[in-house]
Amino acid sequence: MYRVAIVGRPNVGKSSLFNRIIGKRKAIVEDIPGVTRDRIVSTADWRGVTFEIVDTGGYIESDRDTFAPYIRKQIEKEIELSDAFILVVDGREGLTPADKEIARLLHRTDKPVYVAVNKIDNPDMEKSIYEFYELGFDKVFPVSSIQKYGVADLLDAVVQDIPEYEKKASEEKSKPEEKSEIIKVAIVGKPNAGKSSLLNAILGEERAVVSDIPGTTRDVIDTLFEWKGQKFLFLDTAGLRKKSKVDYGIEFFSVGRTLDAIKKADVIVHVIDAQQGATEQDTKIAHLIQKYTKPAVVVINKIDTVPPKSEVLNRIKNQVRERLYFIPYAPIVMTSAKNKKGIKQLLKEIIDVYNQSWKRVGTGQLNRAIKQVLSLRQPPSYHGKPLKIYYATQLEGKPPCFLLFVNYPEGFKDHFLKFLENNLRTVLGFEKAPIKLLLRGKENRQD
Ligand code: GDP
Ligand code: GDP
Repeated sequence: MYRVAIVGRPNVGKSSLFNRIIGKRKAIVEDIPGVTRDRIVSTADWRGVTFEIVDTGGYIESDRDTFAPYIRKQIEKEIELSDAFILVVDGREGLTPADKEIARLLHRTDKPVYVAVNKIDNPDMEKSIYEFYELGFDKVFPVSSIQKYGVADLLDAVVQDIPEYEKKASEEKSKPEEKSEIIKVAIVGKPNAGKSSLLNAILGEERAVVSDIPGTTRDVIDTLFEWKGQKFLFLDTAGLRKKSKVDYGIEFFSVGRTLDAIKKADVIVHVIDAQQGATEQDTKIAHLIQKYTKPAVVVINKIDTVPPKSEVLNRIKNQVRERLYFIPYAPIVMTSAKNKKGIKQLLKEIIDVYNQSWKRVGTGQLNRAIKQVLSLRQPPSYHGKPLKIYYATQLEGKPPCFLLFVNYPEGFKDHFLKFLENNLRTVLGFEKAPIKLLLRGKENRQD
């Protein structure tokens, strides 16, 4: 998609303009290797054209009024990535050396640059835009992000320069997707299990705390991340970013929030503290995962805090397995967010689990598998008659769901269903995904 980046020195109003442009749309945090600051990204629509808009301004308080070398790096990177730039300057402060420095970087490219002279809160102030022509760009606009003034003219100019084929592509893009190539992941677990640390370890960097920047109202928390060509969207429904801890003073365990995360995600990462093992709260969380038949990876974190002996690690693992026996399909990964251990394994498992949850098997294979499983154990009887499965078929969608045509649906008790489910998972290659069995009785019970 055509990408427009908002650049400028700290405190000129980049975020305010960004928020003004995206309106109520949701923004996400984008993770780009080699870039140390958050990129906040959203789509924008103007006069029927959709494009991507990026706020490059995740700068912290101490950066204000300075042009730190890393800001230069950020902008250089953005020049590679984007198709056009909105250079925001402060109409009240006037032209500064830092503005000139950024303009110089932007002159290295032929891509369009629009100068937004911000904080022009009333028409009397418009004359202060003229000095900014010195930056060497023709398109200079007075705007006030706060008064919503001038933003329409600015966007008209931006959209006018978007090539026709890009506009077409953006129309295509806005159509609903069938199967998402992005895995939505929720990291859940008790407070202090290490969820945020784990996310940071995955992203490979300590991330800027967006909410600490005064004057910003970024409601942005989901994080897009790519590893080995696979995209992940880490949902923040569970309050992962430190933001929530600041807001509430102390983080609390909220079933509602965890449930919300579990419902929205494709894969759940359930984090457990190695020192404590699986607790009462962990059982509750896992029950929710089971209830919504969600693919999951169980993470035993902080393994650096326990003796690195295999009997110790096995004991912890067994305790977790036993306590969470009802989600046997979830692979267990041991990590240390602190030492960045086990992170690749975790990502690999998330991908595996996700792929299995989309897997489909043919009817022939499924019915052979059922025969095989039934040969392992004599089915129980119901009212003196043996239970029978005549035929099975996989339904559309995920999680994998199998419809079994049987003689007495009410005769299939939990333990036998669990036996069927667990063995079918193994035989059919769904070791890491939950499956669902639905039973349907036959009208005509001759046998
Ligand atoms: P950033 O660091 O470039 O992202 O800047 P922010 O968007 O955080 O804005 C910096 C400060 O400028 C905040 O206190 C905003 O309220 C203020 N600001 C932003 N836009 C305007 C505007 O149009 N007029 C006025 N008067 N203040 C603004
Ligand atoms: P959250 O509440 O689940 O998001 O937990 P945090 O990520 O905030 O971590 C809680 C505490 O555990 C912090 O003091 C972290 O530094 C610490 N912590 C997190 N992961 C690890 C780990 O792998 N090893 C050790 N030793 N400490 C960790």
